[in-house]
Amino acid sequence: MGLKVAKFGGSSLADGIQLTKTKNIITADPERKYIVVSAPGKRYEGDVKVTDLLYLCKAHIENNLPYEQVFQVICDRYMAMAVNLGVTVNLVPEYEKIRQNLQRGASSDYIASRGEYLNALVIAAFLNYDFVDTEGLILFDAKGSLLIEETNAALSSELKKHKCAVLPGFYGTMPDGKIKTFSRGGSDITGALVARAVSADVYENWTDVSGFLMADPRIVPEAKPISTISYKELRELSYMGASVLHEDAIYPARLANIPINIRNTNIPEDEGTMITDTAVSSNQVITGIAGTKDFDVIAIYKNMMASEKGFIRKLLTILEDFDVAIEHIPSGIDNLSVVVNKKDVEGKVEDIVDEIRRKLAPETIEIFEDVALIATVGHGMSSRQGTSAKLFTALAEGGVNIRMIDQGASEMNIIIGVANRDFEKAVRIIYDAFVE
Ligand code: ADP
Ligand code: ASP
Ligand code: MG
Repeated sequence: MGLKVAKFGGSSLADGIQLTKTKNIITADPERKYIVVSAPGKRYEGDVKVTDLLYLCKAHIENNLPYEQVFQVICDRYMAMAVNLGVTVNLVPEYEKIRQNLQRGASSDYIASRGEYLNALVIAAFLNYDFVDTEGLILFDAKGSLLIEETNAALSSELKKHKCAVLPGFYGTMPDGKIKTFSRGGSDITGALVARAVSADVYENWTDVSGFLMADPRIVPEAKPISTISYKELRELSYMGASVLHEDAIYPARLANIPINIRNTNIPEDEGTMITDTAVSSNQVITGIAGTKDFDVIAIYKNMMASEKGFIRKLLTILEDFDVAIEHIPSGIDNLSVVVNKKDVEGKVEDIVDEIRRKLAPETIEIFEDVALIATVGHGMSSRQGTSAKLFTALAEGGVNIRMIDQGASEMNIIIGVANRDFEKAVRIIYDAFVE
């Protein structure tokens, strides 16, 4: 018999109705033995995810405001789910322990992690599966980097002891025993780690859309689903902002060559998207479009830049000294731009520019603020001539001004920068230009 790891996202676990759908999916296939869960998500438009409520608790504590009411809302959500599902699990001592830790000044990572912890307790009882905590199994080093091999060994040896188990997503432990979370959406990573640890045949990722769509459905509601896609293309899309799957969930699955299947909890009969190493995406020129807002671009021009040895190194050192991570460096012969996250340079742009002027003496240096990056991705792009021309023409005709272009050497990806306010319009135009 095969073995499947199934991760369910917040919307699949938001309330009793969703949890019943989830249980039906799990019991329909006895191969679904290891289940990874997120915290309860939004039940309706405008609702607040439990994870966000937990961060809010922490914010109250930090500002010396009463947090008890917010914490009670969280407790009530789990209690209501348990009652609704007829599950007998005693959460009261759990709440008490969390309260005590809150009062002792527990870290924001610890508090946030309790969302998946409590949910896994309730769901394990509901399914009659073992509860296996990821504390002590998902391991980070002292700097907070995931110890992927140590994690694999720990998870694998623990899970051998359990025929069927529910594990909380999103967190693990540091060497000092403190809880550390992944970045937002990180339960997807936990799912991939568990899939690798038990050598699953497939890693199913259950969410609220029928797979990866060619563009964000909030911008292009009729976006076509992608039936198969390669790990590489998917990583480009998720890194660039397609939030369906956390970009770091791909590596562990890829290491063990485990296909990832994105599925819809609300329409379980849909086959969703299958992600593998060799997948050939459709016969469309492009596989998908994804993007994110809020970057700043520092554009530098200097005569004879290309022949000035060490220019880029000096520039990168300046940014490193200001603790700024670089997203992209599109360059020409005598010009170069650095794309950075707006929040990374907030309050320091002028100092950075002064330093660049002082150390590199460029002819001009300009800052473009509030830029959105959009990636158009597809293996098919390199073999078709005129893809970039088609993209640029469509945007020009649609009245969108392109601030920056970066075409990677892989030729699988063209990234453009546009003003934040043109973001949605540009995605729509690119979609219409390439998808019939
Ligand atoms: P979960 O809570 O199950 O982890 P997420 O909210 O993290 O779910 O991811 C699913 C959401 O991702 C969808 O509801 C959709 O709004 C959004 N999304 C963004 N880009 C895409 C895309 N290209 N294809 C499908 N969904 C997308
Ligand atoms: N609950 C966490 C979040 O909202 C992790 C996850 O859902 O994957 O980001
Ligand atoms: Mg998610």
